[in-house]
Amino acid sequence: MLNRTNAWVVPAAAALFMVFAAGPTRAAADPAVQAVVNLVSQTDYQTYHLDVENMGLGLYGGATYDMGYRNRDGWAGPGSLGNQEARLYLQDAFTAMGLSVSVQGSYFNVVGELTGTTTPENIYIIGGHYDHLAGDRPGGDDNASGTAGVLEAARVLSQWQFESTIRFIGFNAEEDGLLGSKDYVDNHVIPAAENVVGMINMDMILRPGSDVNPNTVIDAELETNGSMPWLQAYQQAAADYVPSLIIGNIWNGRDSWSDNDSFQERGIPSLLVIENSWDDWDVANPYYHTYEDASDRLANGSPNGVTYDYPFATDVTRTAVALIAQEARLVPEPSTLALLSMATAGLLLYGLRRR
Ligand SMILES: [Zn+2]
Repeated sequence: MLNRTNAWVVPAAAALFMVFAAGPTRAAADPAVQAVVNLVSQTDYQTYHLDVENMGLGLYGGATYDMGYRNRDGWAGPGSLGNQEARLYLQDAFTAMGLSVSVQGSYFNVVGELTGTTTPENIYIIGGHYDHLAGDRPGGDDNASGTAGVLEAARVLSQWQFESTIRFIGFNAEEDGLLGSKDYVDNHVIPAAENVVGMINMDMILRPGSDVNPNTVIDAELETNGSMPWLQAYQQAAADYVPSLIIGNIWNGRDSWSDNDSFQERGIPSLLVIENSWDDWDVANPYYHTYEDASDRLANGSPNGVTYDYPFATDVTRTAVALIAQEARLVPEPSTLALLSMATAGLLLYGLRRR
């Protein structure tokens, strides 16, 4: 998440309004989609999160990537050693999931693709930025949290097939002005005239503010800049498949200061999902852009250090999985069809033996 200090000054005349959560407007949940959603694991999410938060120490990539402190700065050239280590990790993880993996553009966005079976030209994107600022800053919430969400969504969805294409993207250089996502949209999506139907951006989803203020509202904020149907589809997916996720604030008509803006500027439906932030910024993450944004540091004088809300982040990820599984159109599991045909064959054999 880019620094939002200037964004506090909102002109009263701006086309900005707030909408409260509406009730369900669509048919009930699809059990097949629910089965996919249920595979999202808090344990796996947490493993991804801690791995990404620790980049810069060479714990994954080896001594070559050891900066002596944790960092994922993506500014200029290949980025810091920790940034490169995170990139290697994303590439390896996506490859292990069987996705088609590429590193796109001069800012090194990592892209894993699950190509659609019948309408591959229709593309859905789940993204989050893997970079953070310079210095000894692990960026646990900003944005190891969203990166872990992308990885866990990819781990689950890659076990299935979909009619449309799904891309999982770790964007780089977000903190430097959304450079990676702008490059991806302007120099890849637009020139190739790709049909990106919808993009979900996860940036800061671990609610570290609950650490210092247990009364902090436990809800997610959704933001878009002109794509309310897409935003409402996420909202509906939460209601249908992840009722434990509370959607609090919904904003339409302003910049988010995160990678969804790069898509929205080109008219591509996109949304940001983030821990309750706009009206509650100081308590949502008091460690924002500081040395303390880590799961294992004494922060802001808090005796217990930062406690991240893993159940919340897992629910945010579940909802992204639900929306994408539904919109990209889940194909019935091949192994289920295989089992059915085997069972049919078995019945036929049984019938033959009885004669
Ligand atoms: Zn940030």
